[in-house]
Amino acid sequence: MSNKLNEKFYHAIFISPHLDDAVFSCGAEIQKIAQKGKVLVINIFTLFLEEDKRSKVFLGEERYIEEKNAANYLNFESINLDFLDAFYRNDKYKKLANIFKQSSSSEAKLIHEVSEKLTSLLSQIDFDVIYLPLGVGWHIDHLVCHELRLNKLFADKIIFYEDMPYAQILPSLDLRFSQLVPMKANKHFIFMNSFLLARSFLACGMTSTIKPNILKCIIFPFIFIFFLKLLMIHKKNNSFDKKMTYVPKVSQNSEFFNRKVQAIKMYNSQLKVLFGSEEKVEETYQTYSKLILNNNKAVERFWSIDAEITKG
Ligand SMILES: [Zn+2]
Repeated sequence: MSNKLNEKFYHAIFISPHLDDAVFSCGAEIQKIAQKGKVLVINIFTLFLEEDKRSKVFLGEERYIEEKNAANYLNFESINLDFLDAFYRNDKYKKLANIFKQSSSSEAKLIHEVSEKLTSLLSQIDFDVIYLPLGVGWHIDHLVCHELRLNKLFADKIIFYEDMPYAQILPSLDLRFSQLVPMKANKHFIFMNSFLLARSFLACGMTSTIKPNILKCIIFPFIFIFFLKLLMIHKKNNSFDKKMTYVPKVSQNSEFFNRKVQAIKMYNSQLKVLFGSEEKVEETYQTYSKLILNNNKAVERFWSIDAEITKG
């Protein structure tokens, strides 16, 4: 993929940790903005050393073609920064579970490198707004991208998006916010939330391939313990900024829903592990929309930083 940008000005830029996140999380918002202006998706971790089919998530050349097809279909420009995907950066990440157990501070050097390369790219262009992942789900590559919020070029242009499909697992969004803004914790916090995460995870599309259902009951304690350990690790990784308040904006997008689902299905290599199957994609987003707004409208939710409070 070429590293040259076609435009000098973009209405919106989406920072996508991987070749799929922008579409999975903001597929409707991209269409909405692309109706009136130019949209650029910057994919960060797009370098795969060798094709790997042992890991549950497929990494390889096919992913560039998927992104190209979705970009043509939804009318956005796509560029890759070609940083190594976590899987290839460190042997500890060869174990999928470890990708979710790190804090962003463990990748300080990488955050700096990504920020430098991004700064050099963005210095060639102008833009109205930049979308970054909130880091829901704690995938280390998503956390690194979230930390790019500190880049001085972004100023007050940042909007955060909820990382899908992780954000459908309750209460993962609240847990992420408990790291970003000070919240009162109670003593049952970790046990209760580990239970809720395990229950929600085993009910979502990602685990729909686990059959028969009785198997889910058998593995429930193991999943619970996994989340318990995960929450204990991330409980220590708070990065509060008392001056920051996150303000939600729910974007209704029923008219863009079908094309969003079609675009998501173009990332065929990721569907089984992240949604269970192609058929589950639509259902996943309907469930997610209902979590946000209890009616039949399709929605995406974004978070901006309250400017008044930030100034104070
Ligand atoms: Zn991702």
